[in-house]
Amino acid sequence: MNNACFTYSQQLMGTTVSLQLLTENLQAVAAVFNTIEALEALLTVNREHSEVMNINHAAGKHPVTVSDLVFDLIMQAKQASLLPNSIFNLAIGPLVKLWKIGFSGHTVPDSQSISEKLALTDPRLIVLNKQNNSVYLPKTGMEIDLGAIAKGYIADIIKLVLVQYDIHHAIINCGGNVLTIGSSPLSPNKYWKVGLKKPFASATSLLGIIRVQDKSVVTSGIYERYFIQNNHLYHHIINPATGFPLDNELESITIISENSLTGDIFSTILYGLGIKKGREELNKRTSIGAIFVTKDKQIILQNDQHFQFQLLDKNYQLHKSV
Ligand code: AMP
Ligand code: MG
Repeated sequence: MNNACFTYSQQLMGTTVSLQLLTENLQAVAAVFNTIEALEALLTVNREHSEVMNINHAAGKHPVTVSDLVFDLIMQAKQASLLPNSIFNLAIGPLVKLWKIGFSGHTVPDSQSISEKLALTDPRLIVLNKQNNSVYLPKTGMEIDLGAIAKGYIADIIKLVLVQYDIHHAIINCGGNVLTIGSSPLSPNKYWKVGLKKPFASATSLLGIIRVQDKSVVTSGIYERYFIQNNHLYHHIINPATGFPLDNELESITIISENSLTGDIFSTILYGLGIKKGREELNKRTSIGAIFVTKDKQIILQNDQHFQFQLLDKNYQLHKSV
């Protein structure tokens, strides 16, 4: 067994992106990081200009024609927003910008500002025209935010880039989104190892190890971006029904799926559903696996035919859902 492993990292998409390859291929590495940079420049809402920002700037004025990739992601994001009981909402932008959670100037907004912004977050109003790839936000102040899913979409494209370079065994970590490609020749059982982070602990403290092959592992958690005011924790997953961060029994949810976009969409949706409804949903969607981590230190595995889990932190109790 050849244990060589080449790791490359760059600061992109507001996080450290790291790529592990088993053979040195600097052309492939450059192609991966250039692709991420180019896609981030199309999709970000944290800069003044991007294709998504062009749409947002034209809200209430006119439709904006975007590239195939951006149109495709927005179309999928709209579909995910319209699923029954979905808290995922691509039109959440005005509330994300109001709260500024994870950015300087974060604040608990007054209730009037929340209701004003809530009126601008109806995903059904977004007009998509496939004939000319145009997107129209009919009310001034509406804003698309793809922050919950851009990394997953980009990770899936990176897999295609690597395959073009004949790379069939690799792992890419976009901070919260890990995509494993093929099997791992590095371990005897050929599984890639992905750490499950301990909520609110240092980045290297793990609750356990997830073992997968050729799968995406995506986590959404309330400890990723948050602030505390008057003893209340305000985190970055907003309930589109209330305009406030959505609180339930969960600290994090990890989705194991074929592709990373699906993982990203369902980590948000299943976080919103919580354990009881989330389990019902997962019984219908057997192609995705999930790991729920609760505030009272329970770890619940569901559809675990898609992964293996090894508990490391004995303060947590492990359960298998049936
Ligand atoms: P993630 O880290 O993938 O769980 O995504 C969190 C990010 O998604 C936030 O920082 C916001 O940009 C965005 N977001 C927050 N609430 C929602 C929501 N209800 N639907 C879609 N995106 C959201
Ligand atoms: Mg996500």
